[in-house]
Amino acid sequence: MSRRPVGAVVTGTDTGVGKTVVSALLLAAVRHRGVAARRYWKPVQTGCPPDDDAAWVARAAGLASAEVVPGAIRLRTPASPFEAARLEGVRLVAPTALPSVPEGTFLVVEGAGGLLVPFDATTTSADLFVAWGLPLVVVARPTLGTMNHTLLTLEAARRRGLVVAGVVVAGPPTAAVLDAFRTHGAADLVAVVPTLDDPARDVAAAAAALVADPAFAALLDRLGAAAPGAPLPPARDLVARDAAVTWHPYTQHGLGRAPLAVVAAEGATLTLADGRRVLDGLSSWWTSLVGHGHPAIAAAIARQARVLDHVQFGGATHPPAVELAERLVALAPRGLARVFYSDDGSTAVEVALKLALAYHARRGAPHRTRFVALEHAYHGDTVGAMSVSDDGPFVADFRTVRFDVTRVPPPVRGADVAACVEALRARLAVEGDRVAAVVVEPLLLGAGGMLVYDEAYLRAVADLARRHGALFVADEVFTGFGRTGARFACGRAGVAPDLLCVSKALTGGTLPLAATLATAAVFDAFTSARTADAFLHGHSFTANPIACAAALAALDLLDDAAFARARAIGDRLGAGLASLRGDPRVADVRGLGLVRAVEVRVDSAAGPGGYLADTGRRMADAALEAGVFLRPLGDVVYAVPPLCVTDAEVDRIAAAMCAAVAAV
Ligand code: PLP
Repeated sequence: MSRRPVGAVVTGTDTGVGKTVVSALLLAAVRHRGVAARRYWKPVQTGCPPDDDAAWVARAAGLASAEVVPGAIRLRTPASPFEAARLEGVRLVAPTALPSVPEGTFLVVEGAGGLLVPFDATTTSADLFVAWGLPLVVVARPTLGTMNHTLLTLEAARRRGLVVAGVVVAGPPTAAVLDAFRTHGAADLVAVVPTLDDPARDVAAAAAALVADPAFAALLDRLGAAAPGAPLPPARDLVARDAAVTWHPYTQHGLGRAPLAVVAAEGATLTLADGRRVLDGLSSWWTSLVGHGHPAIAAAIARQARVLDHVQFGGATHPPAVELAERLVALAPRGLARVFYSDDGSTAVEVALKLALAYHARRGAPHRTRFVALEHAYHGDTVGAMSVSDDGPFVADFRTVRFDVTRVPPPVRGADVAACVEALRARLAVEGDRVAAVVVEPLLLGAGGMLVYDEAYLRAVADLARRHGALFVADEVFTGFGRTGARFACGRAGVAPDLLCVSKALTGGTLPLAATLATAAVFDAFTSARTADAFLHGHSFTANPIACAAALAALDLLDDAAFARARAIGDRLGAGLASLRGDPRVADVRGLGLVRAVEVRVDSAAGPGGYLADTGRRMADAALEAGVFLRPLGDVVYAVPPLCVTDAEVDRIAAAMCAAVAAV
């Protein structure tokens, strides 16, 4: 995947405020920072001739012709692109993609006019800026009227989720102007550039002086033009500082294994502090389904943070929560009509368990307190969620507080579907009238070892639960939103749960958010004129607006094409692992949707198996050597790549999995 360039979109509070001079100053200044690759792009030039900003900037900043991005739209009329194109009878195609430039290039894109200048009948400059995803430099006049123009520009930019790196005032402003930008405009970085007598001649000298100006230098830093001698913090420092103060999940600190020092992520790639780039083969604990740093989600988060960051969801509501609930209900399996928000996969499950218990109590069956769950299940680490999870090292310390759960075997590793259905039938025949809910991970048991089971079994579970008056809870925290090649694993099997738990990919993997969806029947059991009948449960950050906005942006990306891509990724990964089938070291190769897993044979005499097997660490090291971040579940090495992986990256992940197997 090619990385987005660093640099800026230069816009102005008005026409003729000095955008072109500032563009040239930025490009000339980064030279002094040792940035070798520079590009200038003026996608639309109106009033041309005589105006030709590209030629002017090239001269003033000393750019070679290859450093000016070709193919600009040129219109003669000195007006907005929309107006000029209309008068000249030209049909404009909005340039929504940045030009492709070599990695590490510092790109300056100069807008036409100001932020809300119309490009065509439906697009303004701001819409293009959002699509490009580069930070803005807002060029402002120092003269009368600038306060209003600049503050309006800043407000409009932020409302659209645009990141304003700084304001550049072309010419000396008064103290009152500077103060207004900082206080009323919340501009934390205002740089002042001098008025040049002969701009074309003086840009180079002015830029040389500006690199020493603290505000202008800070602006260059923000735009990603790192100062020479100030590279990213060395990995060793970060890891040493980490070792002194943090406590990592599922980590034995006594072993002293260094974590990866990750300083940036984009798409499927993590950038490490030492400059290495590795593929995120697990989508960061299965969250980042669309890939890291997706511009649409980042813009939605920035926009929402400005408009409404948070408000408690008790006694208040807000647009992102309502819109997201509407969308989830429309997309979820039939019958689910209500959305209860929480924070992560564990709380989504915890809510479902508490709802199930309280639902039966409200309906006169308080004796329904048992849960039935699957062997190998994992539902989270809070007390309820770990109670319905299988036994194992994760829960060993908490036997005394875990509540008693009936566990039935799912048809995995070749077990017979009919026999497993029969086992559940037999259990429910004995204790079905005491069961509050049957809780399952549909079709794919994730943390239990990426174990896949038959759709017919899932249908039988749903059917048997209902027949015995128990609720059917589907935990789609892992499988939801396309990972199995369909929006929901339940949908693949044609079943509709009473309670559905979702999280992880809900926000595209950007922010913690979870939802437990319930049927109208469950909701109605809590609805009366008595407060005591309500579901008295909540969290400080329930329905956080920024997370809901991220989820809305993510849902736009998770459509049928995305699910088809999930299946294609899984097929390609599977093909890359074909050589492992029949390998004596390999017990099983399996998968569903985009997930693929290889279970290796572990010599039980050599130490503990399962999650505690040392095999996992050796496989992880071998995968990292091959440029892929994987974290095996003991003797199971698996990949859950983000949907944005290229075919070549899928092949690298498959090769890394093969290398991992070869290492044991
Ligand atoms: N449910 C399932 C199926 C999971 O896979 C997980 C986590 O991996 C959880 C629940 C718990 O989610 P979280 O780690 O966000 O609490």
